[in-house]
Amino acid sequence: MFGLKAKRRAKLRAKPFPAEWKAILERDVPLYRRLSPEDRDELHGHLHVFLAEKRFEGAGGFAMTDDVRLAIAAQACVLLLHRETDYFLMLDSIIVYPAEYVARLRDQDENGVVWEDDEERAGESCAQGSLVLSWRDVLDDREDPDTDLNVVLHEFAHQLDAERGDMNGQPPIADADVRRDWADAMLPAYEDFARQVDAGRNTALDPYGAEHPSEFFAVATETFFQQPRRLQAVYPKVYAVLTRYYRQNPVNWPGVSGGRRAK
Ligand SMILES: [Zn+2]
Repeated sequence: MFGLKAKRRAKLRAKPFPAEWKAILERDVPLYRRLSPEDRDELHGHLHVFLAEKRFEGAGGFAMTDDVRLAIAAQACVLLLHRETDYFLMLDSIIVYPAEYVARLRDQDENGVVWEDDEERAGESCAQGSLVLSWRDVLDDREDPDTDLNVVLHEFAHQLDAERGDMNGQPPIADADVRRDWADAMLPAYEDFARQVDAGRNTALDPYGAEHPSEFFAVATETFFQQPRRLQAVYPKVYAVLTRYYRQNPVNWPGVSGGRRAK
């Protein structure tokens, strides 16, 4: 069974990559423009597999197009470069809304009182097979070259986290050394970060990362690719362990700035 899947994927990866798709990626995906030619080639292969295996759906009146599929898939697949991957195993479908969408939260307290609340969201990742994005937020991140935010990287980092069980900020890692360094780096950094956010300081990473270790991993992933020097300066151990996990070193990419947008 696994042999068949691997063969099918190898065949997909070997397919030629259409020139018009390359043009769309160069136009629309800043991360793609920073990749080396070798990394782009590897990404093209992953994109064939990703687009063949995942379903994209527009919601709330959003019309799905190839440009949208490509822009989302390309950023997701940057997380898969240079390592063995099962292509976000738990994920079946990507649902795209035109803008922030409202999630209705419903719960019941211990006295049986039911409460409901509406929350605006830019994206979410569910362990049961779907991932939701607001296209407006994908575009906002794309249009600000200095941002540390990238909602696509954020939600797909959650998918990596969930690959074998709970979303707990610890994705499955085969190498025992990296696993140990991960524990040494991530938890102390998360605790430090949560203290800074609690104290109301202006933090170097998106304060949402203080919510939970899984959010810290997702926010650190965004900053790792979007503003690598900043992550390296503030949490060097986190940066170092992410270079080993993602097998990439974005501070060496062309056009990486050290600046930070005021929040
Ligand atoms: Zn999140």
